[in-house]
Amino acid sequence: MPRDTKGFKGNKQSLPAKPCVACGRDMVWRKSWAKNWAEVKYCSDACRKAKNA
Ligand SMILES: [Zn+2]
Repeated sequence: MPRDTKGFKGNKQSLPAKPCVACGRDMVWRKSWAKNWAEVKYCSDACRKAKNA
């Protein structure tokens, strides 16, 4: 039986998330966004370019 499920359940849900303003998909917090999470609006460079095009 799995042993590492204890304390792991719901871990993903504890991360902040918000919708991409371009495609509307939920973006889950990433470590690379730690510094500028408040300013992140796009889930990817493709969305950023699509919005700015
Ligand atoms: Zn997007």
